[in-house]
Amino acid sequence: MNTELFDIGIVGAGVVGLAIAQRLASSPAFKNSEIVLLEQDSAFGQHISSRSSEVIHGGIYYPEDSLKARFCVRGKQLLYEHCEHYQIPCNRLGKLIVAQPGEEASLQALLLQAQKNGVGDLQSLDGDQLIKLEPALSASAALHSPSTGIIDSHSYMLSLLQLAQDKGVMFAPQTRVIAIEHVNEKFVLNAEIGKSTDHEEYQFSCRYLINSAGLAAQALANRIAGLPGELIPALHYCKGDYFNYLGKSPFSRLIYPLPEQNTRGLGVHSTLDMSGQLRFGPDTEFVDSVNYDIDPSKAGLYATAIGRYFPQIDASKLEPAYAGIRPKLSLGDSFEDFQILYGAEHGFPGLIQLFGIESPGLTASLAIADELVCHLQNL
Ligand SMILES: Cc1cc2nc3c(=O)[nH]c(=O)nc-3n(C[C@H](O)[C@H](O)[C@H](O)COP(=O)(O)OP(=O)(O)OC[C@H]3O[C@@H](n4cnc5c(N)ncnc54)[C@H](O)[C@@H]3O)c2cc1C
Repeated sequence: MNTELFDIGIVGAGVVGLAIAQRLASSPAFKNSEIVLLEQDSAFGQHISSRSSEVIHGGIYYPEDSLKARFCVRGKQLLYEHCEHYQIPCNRLGKLIVAQPGEEASLQALLLQAQKNGVGDLQSLDGDQLIKLEPALSASAALHSPSTGIIDSHSYMLSLLQLAQDKGVMFAPQTRVIAIEHVNEKFVLNAEIGKSTDHEEYQFSCRYLINSAGLAAQALANRIAGLPGELIPALHYCKGDYFNYLGKSPFSRLIYPLPEQNTRGLGVHSTLDMSGQLRFGPDTEFVDSVNYDIDPSKAGLYATAIGRYFPQIDASKLEPAYAGIRPKLSLGDSFEDFQILYGAEHGFPGLIQLFGIESPGLTASLAIADELVCHLQNL
């Protein structure tokens, strides 16, 4: 069997794997490195990365010093710079986190959390100021985050791929990694190339291996021969459904209720995409398998949740749009951080695995990539 030799192998061409490929390829330290980006599908970003809200998050909610807080705040800045430099469509339209009477103290707590995370641009608004900004809203107070925005995530991913390829990264679509061995300080990857019904077997070897397989990161880790099972975190699929709202949007900013007490999601919020389409979602529902069907009868529940801050909601204008699945690491209600596991301590030097890269993974993508570049430079 042919074995193609590389210095660095990245498994998974979602937004995170693409960002890692681009940042590695443009780092002077890896200028002469051979890098391969392996993707099981025929195109990049077909899984979690094409099913998000496409929001560039501010970095408000997460505990200070968590990876989510650090990477979101840094990633937001890097992402806006990238968009400006490469003319990727994005819009810093701002976001309002709205409170109902009696909930105002929770806004204050969020404001303090944001400040601890280094987000210093939030403004507190009273009910009158709020209505002037968004007349269709019903709320007693709000926080305004002017640096929250939206992005055309497909264009962003395409730019990362093109930049990486320009610097010599080999992109291997339709290449599914099925087994990995660690032999003589190298990872040997067995892959199936082509369609599942008609494929060839192929081998790649690399000194450094990055598992950026999103919802399949745990499955891929399980295919690394000899990797202790206790190093692989649990995985729970948490589905989020979106409903389009027909007609002209009554809002010109993103509108979020206070986040869910259980920390699983940010509450059924209203987002706009780059074409101006208003969308509500995502909710949170643990599911047993990857399934993107949406139950249209949920529209009534959505209308009730949205009606708290948008009383004129017309449930008949809600239409199922799409769903995404979050790779949660637990079923619990407490905060879960991203997990980046470095293999050096466990006899797998050069192995880096990313688990639980849910929101704000799109916003954080370039900051995560920079962290990995820095780690690899120091090995
Ligand atoms: C409902 C929802 C809303 C979100 N909203 C936002 C938001 O508004 N803002 C934000 O910042 N973040 C958001 N996120 C989070 C963000 O979308 C994710 O963190 C990010 O897309 C994860 O990217 P990824 O590259 O890790 O995973 P993926 O995009 O899933 O990429 C993993 C890739 O690995 C490939 N792969 C898997 N196994 C193999 C194998 N064996 N061999 C080869 N290839 C393999 C897959 O085909 C896939 O392409 C949201 C997420 C969800 C679910």
